[in-house]
Amino acid sequence: MAAFDTFIMVDWSGGNDRGATPKADAIWTCVAGEAPLYHRNRQDAETWLTKRIDDEIATGRRVLAGFDFPFGYPRGLARALVGADDPLMLWQWFVDQIEDAPDANNRFDVAGRINQLFDGIGPFWGNGLKRDIANLPRTGRERDCDALPEWREAEHRAKGAFSCWQMAGAGSVGGQVMMGLPVLNRLRARFGGAAWPFESLNEVPLALVEVWPSLIAQAVKAAQREAETRDAAQVRVLAGTIAALDPAQLGQMLDDFPAEASQEGWIFGLGNEDALNAAARRISQLSPPRLRDDCFSLPAGVDWAPVDEALALLRDRLGPVTETEITPLADALGRTLAAPVVAKRANPPLPNSAVDGYGFAHASLSSGAPLLPLVAGRAAAGLRFEGAVPPGHAIRILTGAALPDGVDTVVLQEDVRLGAGEIAFRAGIKPGANTRHAGEDVQEGQTILPVGRVITASDLALVAAVGESMLSVRKPLRVAVISTGDELAEPGETVSAGQIFDANRPMLLALLKRAGHVPVDMGRVADERAAMRARLSAAAAGADAILTSGGASAGDEDHVSALLNEAGAMAMWRIAIKPGRPLGLGLWQGVPVFCLPGNPVAAMVTTCVFGLPALGLLAGRGWREPRRFTVPAAFAKRKKPGRREYLRARLIDGQAEVFKSEGSGRISGLSWADGLVELPDGELEISPGDSVTYIPWEGFGV
Ligand code: AMP
Ligand code: MG
Repeated sequence: MAAFDTFIMVDWSGGNDRGATPKADAIWTCVAGEAPLYHRNRQDAETWLTKRIDDEIATGRRVLAGFDFPFGYPRGLARALVGADDPLMLWQWFVDQIEDAPDANNRFDVAGRINQLFDGIGPFWGNGLKRDIANLPRTGRERDCDALPEWREAEHRAKGAFSCWQMAGAGSVGGQVMMGLPVLNRLRARFGGAAWPFESLNEVPLALVEVWPSLIAQAVKAAQREAETRDAAQVRVLAGTIAALDPAQLGQMLDDFPAEASQEGWIFGLGNEDALNAAARRISQLSPPRLRDDCFSLPAGVDWAPVDEALALLRDRLGPVTETEITPLADALGRTLAAPVVAKRANPPLPNSAVDGYGFAHASLSSGAPLLPLVAGRAAAGLRFEGAVPPGHAIRILTGAALPDGVDTVVLQEDVRLGAGEIAFRAGIKPGANTRHAGEDVQEGQTILPVGRVITASDLALVAAVGESMLSVRKPLRVAVISTGDELAEPGETVSAGQIFDANRPMLLALLKRAGHVPVDMGRVADERAAMRARLSAAAAGADAILTSGGASAGDEDHVSALLNEAGAMAMWRIAIKPGRPLGLGLWQGVPVFCLPGNPVAAMVTTCVFGLPALGLLAGRGWREPRRFTVPAAFAKRKKPGRREYLRARLIDGQAEVFKSEGSGRISGLSWADGLVELPDGELEISPGDSVTYIPWEGFGV
């Protein structure tokens, strides 16, 4: 059986869609790797499923679609209704019987009709309607049916599952089966799909599989996000879990069902709960949410976005996209913490001496200049003095040694006169002098480093001091860089007069490296749409984010923005910034793309101001403001209102000097500068000596 490419999970519903507000527990679907989708009724859901499955199959992808209701009834029902033990004939029977519209369906009537065929009352019970239904008792106790078993074999093993015969009441599944089987049969017929485990899944484009999210309830609970409904979390985690199984494991689980299943259906993963839960834990801990398609859309009515507004949007919309892993301290420098570090042990673990000297109990000092006999032995770091120091006695103690019992104060050795077996020193020492309290540095249970922290050398000291050897960190963010433009050539190449060398790519790759990301060089692309499309796809396959430069405007040769527009996930942000506009932001195959201006100075400024903070969010570092310094200006300038301006600058004797030309093609000025002067959006007149904001390149983290 070839592997599946697309996994769609569905949390079904048997109810009606009445009233103005959609019900919270209607239908949720989720394609593995994407956000869960809400459908207010079965008709919406069927339309969406049909379209999505069609799209997947059209691009040669095999689909496994899981539905959370029984695909069959306890053995015997099919024979009673269609004269054969064939569950798929039963599906067809329901297609013929069921009438379904958003606000009304005939499920209770059909249940009553089936009951009528049996001696006694029949198997179905539970009526959610006001009107009585002939032959459908309201409660289970009123019912009798000897002809059919109460449970399928699967439910004997799936503890807590509901009976297919129960048509009403919280959690009941009977209505879902009845209203679901016709939909399954239509999908199966339309796409030449196969129903598991009744049919072979070999080569079929669509496999329909019964699932039960309760098998991974714990993992779902652990992974449920804030403001996410339980049903949404269930389909999201289950889709991710099944997609994360390796094909052999998936194949083995699909082959694992008992004989009864060929009539009654079976629950995928039943009997393989351990493997399924292992996969669920793996994905619920490791895989971050994908970005939403509309994550870069600007609010309606925004034409020119001020820099702060644009930054606030990025801050709001972007989150970590990298997986987490556990790493030893030795490899943790520069990595981003995925979980806070909590001290398992206090530092220092015990009260100890801060100096080399003599320890004693302060309360046992008599008035006047102390003269204390020494006890035999000494206390040294790592070598605990096991005995107790009697009141009125002192003990030799070295820096870092745990205070022995009976010692709370230490006198510095330089302040002591050492006699034969005794010490003398001046009166007036304070209780607790020259000692460190247990936990005075770090207390047990204290959070010493927060999520998102980029580990420094000093952090390693802190983490090591509390005994931690492994850290939960995010995988490094892989960022692809693509230069665009027919005019570009590679330094070293022979060029024609009209060509220029690609300056942006080496600069951007270096910035990424300095920022602690993994740069992925995706080369240059000519101004040609098909080539650009292919390169974006290649970049998206191997990176977590993409930086392009050039081709970002709306001109004829601006293919990057055209392509992202075509993909429906592009926003051209016209930001009130100089130099720098425009900045295009989009998603290509789910991967965020930052379309930087071609101009190297503008590319540098927009990368520093927008790109690096945004990439920091994607890398799991949270939002970091650049480090700004207020310094006197060594220049004069008049600035018009409306745009924030960044000038290439450097500090001379603590004053900010700016590059002689603001021309944004002047790459020499970038190299000359050590950072940028940031001028506010409004009108401004600067004279030498006025305070201005200076951000060194290091302040941007590069
Ligand atoms: P574009 O945004 O493609 O219209 O490019 C704006 C300006 O930047 C043009 O003068 C380009 O030639 C120049 N440019 C674009 N990409 C690069 C690059 N990678 N290196 C140097 N200059 C570039
Ligand atoms: Mg160009």
